[in-house]
Amino acid sequence: MDNFVSTHEASIRLGIFFGVFAIMAIWELLAPRRELTQPKSTRWLNNIGLVVLNTVVVRIIFPTAAVGVAAHAAQQQWGLFNQLDTPGWLAVLASVIILDGVIYLQHVMFHAVPAFWRLHRVHHADLDFDVTTGSRFHTLEILLSMLIKFAAIVLLGPPLVAVVIFEVLLNATAMFNHSNVRLPLPLDRVIRLLIVTPDMHRVHHSHLAHETNSNFGFNLSIWDRLFGTYRAQPQDGHTGMTIGIDSFRDGAQCTQLPRLLIMPFIGKINDYAISSRRWGKPDES
Ligand SMILES: [Zn+2]
Ligand SMILES: [Zn+2]
Repeated sequence: MDNFVSTHEASIRLGIFFGVFAIMAIWELLAPRRELTQPKSTRWLNNIGLVVLNTVVVRIIFPTAAVGVAAHAAQQQWGLFNQLDTPGWLAVLASVIILDGVIYLQHVMFHAVPAFWRLHRVHHADLDFDVTTGSRFHTLEILLSMLIKFAAIVLLGPPLVAVVIFEVLLNATAMFNHSNVRLPLPLDRVIRLLIVTPDMHRVHHSHLAHETNSNFGFNLSIWDRLFGTYRAQPQDGHTGMTIGIDSFRDGAQCTQLPRLLIMPFIGKINDYAISSRRWGKPDES
């Protein structure tokens, strides 16, 4: 299994990425949840441009990527599951769940640490919320999260196949839960018992600080419920809410790729960072 996965990793990854992207893009056209506020072609060109740039940079800096780290950890017998005699299926399942928990905590950290929030602002400054938002992250945030993932893999020693499942799943669910699609509400309620839905994650892209600092999960919804960061709906409703952050409202600044790349280095850190949160009534912001 591990051999098959490492040989075909790139094609599995690309196939699922383009497949899910195409499905969500068509779904957004057929049943959009909100009207977009920015010209779509310009946003898509720049958001996808950033994804291409990130892919190239990651390939250059970390050519063996997470799977390579997992293979090395297995060879050296590093990490929990390389020490324990766990049944294969259990090690895979547990690894995927634990890695997802790590991503949840990492996301909270990107909101809590002011310098990291500067990087993560690029994701939140998108003035619309659709399938391309799901992959729109500053290059430095991508590199940092790779390092965090490598550290988690070294400690956990997950099977190779678990790392591929985890990455492919995260990629697919991030595109799904950022997409501008209308899901029948009863269906949304059922799906979000397990997986983060677009309505659930959209709350996280609200311009209101207390909504931005909720629903940090990217894949499993259990983490937000467990850590008390779950918020069911936006207070202004899905069609009435404002997407983005208050200090970056200029269309060109929030869209053009070169300006996204310098965004972390300009302006002040505003009140969104959890560390500057004024503790009061839960809904006070
Ligand atoms: Zn966030
Ligand atoms: Zn997001």
